[in-house]
Amino acid sequence: MPVKKRVGLDRVQELYENRDMRAKELKAEGRTVMGYMCCLAPLEIMSAAGIVPIRILGNVKEPVTRADAHIETIACPYVRSCLDIALKGKYDFIDGLVVPHTCDNTYALYAIWSSGIVPITPKYHHYIDGPHMTFPTSVEYFDVELGRFKESLEEFTGNKITNQKLTNSIRLYNRNRALLRELYGLRKQGPPLLTGTEMTKILVACRVIPVEESNELLGEVIAEIKNRRAIPTPKTRLLVYGGEIDDTALIELIEESGANVVVDDHCLGVRSFWHDVQVDKNLIHSLGARYILNVACPRTYKQRERGYKEAMDNRFGYLMEFAKEYKVKGVILYIIRYCDTFELDAPGVREYFQKAGYPVLHIEDDYSVTTIGQLKTRVQAFLEMID
Ligand code: SF4
Repeated sequence: MPVKKRVGLDRVQELYENRDMRAKELKAEGRTVMGYMCCLAPLEIMSAAGIVPIRILGNVKEPVTRADAHIETIACPYVRSCLDIALKGKYDFIDGLVVPHTCDNTYALYAIWSSGIVPITPKYHHYIDGPHMTFPTSVEYFDVELGRFKESLEEFTGNKITNQKLTNSIRLYNRNRALLRELYGLRKQGPPLLTGTEMTKILVACRVIPVEESNELLGEVIAEIKNRRAIPTPKTRLLVYGGEIDDTALIELIEESGANVVVDDHCLGVRSFWHDVQVDKNLIHSLGARYILNVACPRTYKQRERGYKEAMDNRFGYLMEFAKEYKVKGVILYIIRYCDTFELDAPGVREYFQKAGYPVLHIEDDYSVTTIGQLKTRVQAFLEMID
């Protein structure tokens, strides 16, 4: 009997549990698969070259045992987890590695992984040096970097990235973003039509398959969710802000404690997809502007032009808009330990929300199921305080 193709949320579950499954299938079919880190990797250029980009994810369930020989234990635990997994050969199927300069930890990961220390070093590795400011010259600099990246992919794959190919690719990704925004829209109502736990699985699933398949999957998921009859019980609506969340452990713990995570700003969430790329004459510049100006990651500093209040609005105003639009009652800051990037912004975000009357829970965590499990009492106490 032929195996029935899984669709919608069923397929999401399958991809969430077997994250490298589809990439390995495609690789066996002769496709070039590349791993990338963080929200700043311009996936549009990779797909236009015929590459399947898949996001490098860590594993909160797997203890780090091999990475300690190469990177200090006081480095970002998410990066250590990614390196540990690579050292254990779990990314041995990727043909290439693309790392944009998010932070010094990701740079360390790139330097180690591409140096040949990791037993299976991909044939291609590229580091994208992204500026940390948002001046017009910052975007110009990034345009040059993206041009270099495009050329190196053309050389590696032998595929010319024409304007037409890049336009098609940008449109596919913009479609992907629109579908994800539509899905987030289904969480605005009370109670939301899907849980934060389900959304986390969908976000992971969409990052480990080609964009065309991701668009098809999202279409199925949206149709399935819109047809839902069983509406979940209303709970305390929360916004979760922070770094990498690529496992349901944290969100599940929060939701089991009596909340609905209805919106987020983390590395796989809105930060990675909210803003479209403009399709115009200079596509590389459009990409550069989108990634440098619109990806609201604390690694990019929005320069302070006026007073403190304006600077805070400039930096975190978009979060407040989300909080209002999704009618949240509180905010959880999930900061991965030793992450200077987020640690530096967290006090500002906390103060910004508290001044506006939102209760805030600031968590610092080791990116591990063990430490996440220990957060339950704090989350419960926080929810009791809100209710
Ligand atoms: S969590 Fe922080 S330190 Fe770790 S990769 Fe992200 S920005 Fe870098």
